[in-house]
Amino acid sequence: MISISFPLFVAIYLALFLAGVLILWLGYEWIRRRQENRAARTRVFCRICASRYTDTSSADLIDCPVCGSRNERLS
Ligand SMILES: [Zn+2]
Repeated sequence: MISISFPLFVAIYLALFLAGVLILWLGYEWIRRRQENRAARTRVFCRICASRYTDTSSADLIDCPVCGSRNERLS
C-alpha cells in the first residue's frame, strides 16, 4: 500500500476537488454562451418600421411580419 502523510492527502484531495469545480464551471459557462448565441441569432430588427421579432429559420433575409420589408439578421 502507498503511504502518504495526512497533509499531503489533504492537499491532493483539495486540488482534485478544485479541479472538478473548475471543469464544471467552464463546462456550464460554455453551454450558457452557446445558448445565448443561439438566441441572439433568432432576433431580427426591422430597419423600416423598427420592430423586433424572432425568426428560427436559417434564411439570410427575413420578411418583417409588421411591414413586410426584408431584413438581415443582427448577428
Ligand atoms: Zn418592419
